[in-house]
Amino acid sequence: MIARVIVDVPSGQTDRLFDYKIPSKWYDVLEKGMRVVVPFGPRSIQGFVVEITESSTVEKLKEIKEILDVTPVLTEELLELGNWLTEQTLSYKISAYQVMLPAALKTKVEKQLLCLQEIQLLPISLQPFFNKQPLVKWNEIVDTDPSLLTSIKDAVKCGLLEVQYAVKDKGKKQTHRMIESLLSKDQLKDLLVGLPQRAEKQLAIVHYFIENGEQVPLIRLIELTQSSRQSVKSLIDKGVLVEKEKEFYRDPFINETFAQTKPLQLTDQQQQVTIPILDSIEENVHKTFLLHGVTGSGKTEIYLQVIDRVLSEGKEAIVLVPEISLTPQMVDRFKGRFGSQVAVLHSGLSLGEKYDEWRKIHRKEVRVAVGARSAVFAPFENLGIIIIDEEHEGSYKQDEMPKYHARDVAIFRGHYYCCPVVLGSATPSLETYARAKVGRYELLTLGERVNQGPLPTVEIVDMREELRDGNRSMFSSSLFEKMKDRIDKKEQMVLLLNRRGFSTFVMCRDCGYVANCEHCDISFTYHKTNHSLKCHYCGHEERMITTCPSCSSEHVRFFGTGTQRVEEELGKVLPEARVIRMDVDTTRRKGSHQKLLKDFGEGKADILLGTQMIAKGLDFPNITLVGVLTADTMLHLPDFRSSERTFQLLTQVSGRAGRHKLPGEVVVQTYTPEHYSIELVKEHDFVTFFQREILIRKGSGYPPYYHIALINVSHQELPKVIHVTEKITQFLKQQLTNEANILGPVASPIARLKNRYRYQCMIKYKNEPMLGKILREIQQHYSRETARGDLQISIDMNPQMFM
Ligand code: ADP
Ligand code: ZN
Ligand code: ZN
Repeated sequence: MIARVIVDVPSGQTDRLFDYKIPSKWYDVLEKGMRVVVPFGPRSIQGFVVEITESSTVEKLKEIKEILDVTPVLTEELLELGNWLTEQTLSYKISAYQVMLPAALKTKVEKQLLCLQEIQLLPISLQPFFNKQPLVKWNEIVDTDPSLLTSIKDAVKCGLLEVQYAVKDKGKKQTHRMIESLLSKDQLKDLLVGLPQRAEKQLAIVHYFIENGEQVPLIRLIELTQSSRQSVKSLIDKGVLVEKEKEFYRDPFINETFAQTKPLQLTDQQQQVTIPILDSIEENVHKTFLLHGVTGSGKTEIYLQVIDRVLSEGKEAIVLVPEISLTPQMVDRFKGRFGSQVAVLHSGLSLGEKYDEWRKIHRKEVRVAVGARSAVFAPFENLGIIIIDEEHEGSYKQDEMPKYHARDVAIFRGHYYCCPVVLGSATPSLETYARAKVGRYELLTLGERVNQGPLPTVEIVDMREELRDGNRSMFSSSLFEKMKDRIDKKEQMVLLLNRRGFSTFVMCRDCGYVANCEHCDISFTYHKTNHSLKCHYCGHEERMITTCPSCSSEHVRFFGTGTQRVEEELGKVLPEARVIRMDVDTTRRKGSHQKLLKDFGEGKADILLGTQMIAKGLDFPNITLVGVLTADTMLHLPDFRSSERTFQLLTQVSGRAGRHKLPGEVVVQTYTPEHYSIELVKEHDFVTFFQREILIRKGSGYPPYYHIALINVSHQELPKVIHVTEKITQFLKQQLTNEANILGPVASPIARLKNRYRYQCMIKYKNEPMLGKILREIQQHYSRETARGDLQISIDMNPQMFM
């Protein structure tokens, strides 16, 4: 028997199946989708078994060295998805498989076997290992006799043994010492009489077990009874208590309790859009729905109710939420409804925590996965729905290999399981809305907020006029008046500083010199706290300059408005205001993002000041004012989606105001008030925005009318980069049809990054059936050079970023 294996060497030359002989003792054990260790050249490496066959065309095969799983980590469906992903994104197979699994599975994890039943029930060959203790190291058994793997696998299948993994997590225990009473309550009461009165601590412990009965973590027991390890130990020695190791999931929400919530009575409007989704669930047909609902229209409640139906059909659900909206508020809504059936996956978790959540899904202990992009790969096998909230979010596209979009993966899985995919947004992406318009997706619209609450009124302020009127402050007089008013009324507000593509750069006023990072062609950002200059692309940091390196002038100043400067300014003009600042600097520490939001929710501040990260998901009743300080900074980025992104951001942030009883107001400050992406925010008019924008896309040949593929070439030497990009461009021009529009080679918007020069070539096309094959040829042609690492060629089909 032969196993065909994808090995863990991500390179063009090893991106194929390798055959290995399966030792006969493992014939019954090995399955597709398991991880194995195989000899590869002089080394032993990990790989995935993707096929098992009778024979191979290769002579003199090597044998598989080790099997790492007893149940496959990749299901049949995920293996198929991996193939598809590889083709769609032109990535390596190994990368496609690895992206579906938690990173902890890449490292070698120590495995243990736990005996769940009486030892006598185990196969006789295994019994000796478990004589002394119920938990035995995997290797202890398998190294003794590799053929025991068959018995282990059977025992796991029958529920006699359980595989446990110990991911080493710094500072975190994966097991707790549990203490349990061996005596019944009556026996304990008898014992009380016998214990000497001065053994106070032991008495307290016995009392505890009389009252509570159940097992309890050692630390907690000591804390609750104010006793000591010593007294617990004495009771263990007397045979009263027993100590057990118990594996605990590193549940990041373990200390929080969730108030159970009940389904709300849906409004007529909500009911209307829910029906087609429920039908699709019931009829087991795949459909993609676009749920276009203004902010606060009750989309999340709809998600909860359709998931409820999915669960009652015995199926599973995946909910994707942008990383930044995965706030405790959001998680609470799902845990509140579905309790411990929910696993949460996001990047704030440690390696071990992520792995634990993944395992709950893999073992079918939960049936709802809520998470950021990669949760779309949750290894469910009976999926009933996939929901993508805020589907327009750029973060659903992964910008490393494999460069996939979660939306495409969701639709693949929806097809596979014949279940609906729901894309929800107040500002759908142009591509998605266009597909809904032509009927490829089914459009469901929620035009009103729940309870007919009005959408906030939006005022657009022309900052050029403010300047003409002599207002040099960063707050227009209108915004300032409103801010004062809210402070008086004890209402809360949100101030957004739109900083993407814009920062506090440092410039010489005399000669115009701008301080740039020497490794990247990116201007430094000034950091006030430690008076330094920092490159936000490579992390390089320098002291702030006092004289201009170019003309020696001392008039070096920083420009632009950072959140710190706004905070300072607020301190001057509104000293009574309490401000919480949220930006990359204040949210770097794990959990700080959530803590700041919690504080704000509890009314510990009047103003929440922040960057993009505050625009989404917040649902605080007391927010009645949203101020956007600089609406147009994103408009001028070299990206055809810049208008779309501006409209989305402004609409999203406006949606934070007046979500409950109090009406909301929004003030948008801008230097380009006439731009349609800003003007139309005032009317909350997505549809008109769509109609304007789609014409522009059509006129200049962008998605959804054309597809785009972006090829980025980088190398330390500029001539090399230009030469390679030139050759690639020529090759594409020869190979593709005349319909394809090949742009380039040109320097990338970021022309140098981490000491590498960057050039690009863009292909705009409608229908190029050979494109995938041609791009593969290019990858192959340069595979030797790219494997060495000095040359990099990255290909992005449908890129979201053009930097
Ligand atoms: P969205 O996700 O579209 O922004 P939400 O689901 O957050 O909207 O709903 C906005 C608010 O309205 C929430 O506080 C939610 O609890 C409430 N809500 C939603 N549906 C109903 C309903 N049918 N009845 C009463 N309140 C509702
Ligand atoms: Zn100068
Ligand atoms: Zn840099």
